[in-house]
Amino acid sequence: MFQRPIIVLVRKTWSLGVLIALLILLIGAGSLSLASVFSNDLQNKVIVIDPGHGGADPGAQNSGLKEKDINLDISLRLRKVLESKGCKVILTREVDKDFFLPGFVRGRMAKRAELNQRTELATQNNADLFISVHTNSYPQRNTYGMETYYHLKSSPGKALAELIQEQLTQLQSDNKRKAKAGDYYLINQSKMPAVIIEVGFISNPRERKLLMSDEYRDSVAVAVSTGIERYFNTYPMGVRESAPMVAQQEGPPSASNDSYKLYFSSDNLDGLVSEEHKLSSSVWAKLGLSKKTNLVLAELIQGPRSGTLTPTLSPKTKILSITIQDSIATIDFSGDIRDDFHGGALEEDITIQSIVWSMTQIPGISGVRILINGEFGDSIGGNILLDRTFTSKSYYGV
Ligand SMILES: [Zn+2]
Repeated sequence: MFQRPIIVLVRKTWSLGVLIALLILLIGAGSLSLASVFSNDLQNKVIVIDPGHGGADPGAQNSGLKEKDINLDISLRLRKVLESKGCKVILTREVDKDFFLPGFVRGRMAKRAELNQRTELATQNNADLFISVHTNSYPQRNTYGMETYYHLKSSPGKALAELIQEQLTQLQSDNKRKAKAGDYYLINQSKMPAVIIEVGFISNPRERKLLMSDEYRDSVAVAVSTGIERYFNTYPMGVRESAPMVAQQEGPPSASNDSYKLYFSSDNLDGLVSEEHKLSSSVWAKLGLSKKTNLVLAELIQGPRSGTLTPTLSPKTKILSITIQDSIATIDFSGDIRDDFHGGALEEDITIQSIVWSMTQIPGISGVRILINGEFGDSIGGNILLDRTFTSKSYYGV
């Protein structure tokens, strides 16, 4: 009575053996890639997840909702999913804290030191990937959609960002945003493939409501982990480092004799939009370089005349000084430019571009250095350090 089932079991084992043999033969013949058959787990991969901001730095804010809290919660959920797939996960922070040195929350070197500690943790642990989680905000309530950024010169970063963005947009069928190159300090400093994920706009009523729900946060975490899993499955040997091709950015057209342009942000946060300002009887042409820069900057701070454009600077911002040397304009802004900024990485990027483009259209100005309260190397929103001379061509932005 007990014989039959045993025979069946033996037969099943035998046929399984034949199947495995066939599979090995197929792989040997090159019909199947090894990756697609066996590398479907994340065993032993070290992933550093960086919940953006924290502690004294709330990040983007909107109606009481703080970016730092959403970033941490989604990061904790992402850790859970990745650990269940066999990854070793390290969080740069597990509570509401920052990495500022005592007494250095503001000013030169503060943000750099803060961000360095996040990427150094990944380097020390020999991490395979660095995933920084952020949340967006923008003055235009209609703007929405998750975004993923990679370093301009990193092919692995680009591959990873595209796979994650592909999963994220499956949660938002009307999100047409593609993975983008970004000039952000965290991904510039990371030694391993790194991405910044903006999980949505807390300024958009629909996305804000979603971001407040447990189910949605879970689904974002699952989407990111699926993107990561796809990355390791698709590229089991990694992606060869080679700079992706990037089109050389054209600078702004030069101001003419009776008009100049001011560069503001579009209502959809997808780039700069210009607004032409005219001056009667060629007044503009007669102004000296210093008067021109002062006039353009003052009008940039005042904001656009058209309601369809979005200001890039707080109207409270004051110009403390402008000095021009060797065609480089050094602009010293009051701290309002930073303290009144509540947006995300992309808005910060566009804010800098709007200053650089508005300035470099003036014949005689080829580059811009941005100081805050007299200090070089600070940051407006904590993602980009103002530690260089920006030119419209070298500064690629979005
Ligand atoms: Zn952020």
